[in-house]
Order: sequence, then structure tokens, then C-alpha cells
Amino acid sequence: MLIEPNKIVQQNIPLPVLGADDALLRVEACGLCGTDIEQYRGEMPVSERHTPFPSIPGHEPVGVIADIGKDAARRWGVEPGDRVAVRPFFGCGKCEACAAWQPERCPGRGGTYGFIGVDRAPGLWGGYADMLYLDRLSVVRKIDPTLPAGVAALYNPLASGMSWAKTVPETGPNDRVVILGAGVRGLCCVIGAKEAGAKQVVVTGLAKDAHKLELARRFGADDTLIVEPGMDVSEALRDITGGGAEVIIDTTPNAPDSMRHAIEIAVRGSRIVMVGLKGPRAVDGIMPDDIVHKEIVMRGVLSTPFSEFAPAISVLESRRYHLEDMHTHSFDVADAEKALRTLEDSEDGAIHVAIVPGA
Ligand SMILES: [Zn+2]
Ligand SMILES: [Zn+2]
Repeated sequence: MLIEPNKIVQQNIPLPVLGADDALLRVEACGLCGTDIEQYRGEMPVSERHTPFPSIPGHEPVGVIADIGKDAARRWGVEPGDRVAVRPFFGCGKCEACAAWQPERCPGRGGTYGFIGVDRAPGLWGGYADMLYLDRLSVVRKIDPTLPAGVAALYNPLASGMSWAKTVPETGPNDRVVILGAGVRGLCCVIGAKEAGAKQVVVTGLAKDAHKLELARRFGADDTLIVEPGMDVSEALRDITGGGAEVIIDTTPNAPDSMRHAIEIAVRGSRIVMVGLKGPRAVDGIMPDDIVHKEIVMRGVLSTPFSEFAPAISVLESRRYHLEDMHTHSFDVADAEKALRTLEDSEDGAIHVAIVPGA
């Protein structure tokens, strides 16, 4: 349980008595991402959907149905013993956003696993735990029980990669795709672009990301670029792509210049997808006319739509990509702080890190 910034303690919370319409998940793994680090450091803005402390973090859980009410079992099509992936968001079930399967936009009493205070009954709202309570409006989907748990937990970043590199920019076989940033989400974008049949896939990273760029190549990236201080990144990318790219996805965190690079390497009709958050930083050197002359479509994306959930799980289950190479570290719930630090500092070759109870 996260009780204040930078402080996670272990605590026992009694299991609730279930009704007909809810369930309990025995957590097998919970993937970590940059959001977990912001949450842990106390750097996330407080909102109606986000109760900072005390809460049980963990919003990318996968696990086995431990107990389930009879109505939930019928509606979700699952029974005790089934392994399921859980969508992070659930809504109120009554508003327009919920009707459009966009619970992340629901203004009502829904929530996001990992960000609900323990004071809201029954308290078990996060994946850094042995058990997770599943609200009646949860979206779950069965997932191959023979996948290693930490790999199965990749369903969430993979859904993002499919959304950002394939669906949102409508990537096709004539497109050169440049992915800025080689974190888990950048690597999942490589898979999204490959699934879209892109003509060329290029990924950038820093010198410390060399092992991630190597993995990008194994996933099918044609070229990679290590960005060195003082380098003319746009020039280098124009060289590699033979003039620029039709699709550019900016996943880099805290690096506002990448937005300028994206616009500079765009060709006529390019689609730019902005996903890496930059914090309170402005960008110098953007020429607004470039956006007009090149007829660029720029799209910011904050999360991942429901429709990518199933395709991402299919990719995982297909075993087309050796995702064991991306899931590098598993930590027990008791070692959650160590897991967060390992991810934050990319220690020990870390790429994807998950909490795996009992690891
Ligand atoms: Zn996440
Ligand atoms: Zn709603």
C-alpha cells in the first residue's frame, strides 16, 4: 500500500464477501510503467479519478479468477480458475462515455485500478497485492494460461502499441514509421507497426537504450538510431528513411524537442502521434507553417481504447514475437519499491518490470 510519496508498506486487508455481480482475482502479475513511478514519487496530479494516498498501486493486472458471483460469471463468460487480463478502467455504466466503451472518459463513479483509495470498500483496488477486487463494470478477457505471467502482463502496453502505431495513424504497407523512444511502449509500437505491415520501421533511443534497440531489431525494426548529444536528429532520420516518414510516434518522456523532430521529418500528409508526456516544458524552433505546408495530422493520445484489448491479446497468444525478451524482471509484492527503482533507472538491463506475487 502506498501511504505517502516514496513509501510502500505491506498491510492485510480482509477479503470482501462477494455479491452476484463482482469477483476476486488472484493476481499473477501486474505490469509496471512510467505512471507507476510518477504515482510512487507523488508527482501525479490529483483528480476525481485518482486518490493518491493511501492506495494500492498497480493498474496492469493479470490473474486467475479466485471467486465470482453468478451474474458476473455469466456476463463475463468466465469461471473460477480462468486466467484473465483486466482493463485498467471501469466506468459508472450509465453515462454517454460508458455507452461508447470509453470508461476512461466517464465523469461518474468509476475508477482506474491502482488509483482508488483504500477507504473505498473493499479497498483491494490495486495490482500490487495477492488479491484484486473486480468491480461489476470491469472488463476482463481470457488469456492463454500457459504464457509466463510477466509476459501475459504485457497486454496493456501492447494494446497501446497497436493503437498508436497501427490504428490511430492508419499505418499501411506504404508507410515509413519512425518511433521516437525505445521504452516498453516504443518497443510495443514496433510490433504495432509490423502488424500494420509498414514498409520501414525505425526506432530511436539513447546510448543507454542500446539493448532495447537491439530488441527492437529482433521484433522487426529495420533501422535504429542512437541519439547522441548535439546530433542533428532530424537530419539523421531523413538519411535513414530516404527523406522522411509518413508515420511518426513520439513516445519519449520529458524530451520536448522530439516534437520538433517529428514535424521536421514529416513528409506531406504525415500522421504524428504524440504520447510521451513532456511535463511543464515548451518546445523551441517549431515552424507552424510546416504543419500547413505538409498537411500534417497531429494527434495526442492519452490512453488505449477498448478495441485494442483483444488484438493485443491475440498478438501475445500468437507468440509471433519473443516477448520473453522484453519482460526482463519480476519482483514479489514485498519488493515493490525495488521493482519501481529498477524500472526507473533501467538497472540491470531492465525493460519491462512486473510485480509477480511469490517471485
Ligand atoms: Zn501503465
Ligand atoms: Zn460512466
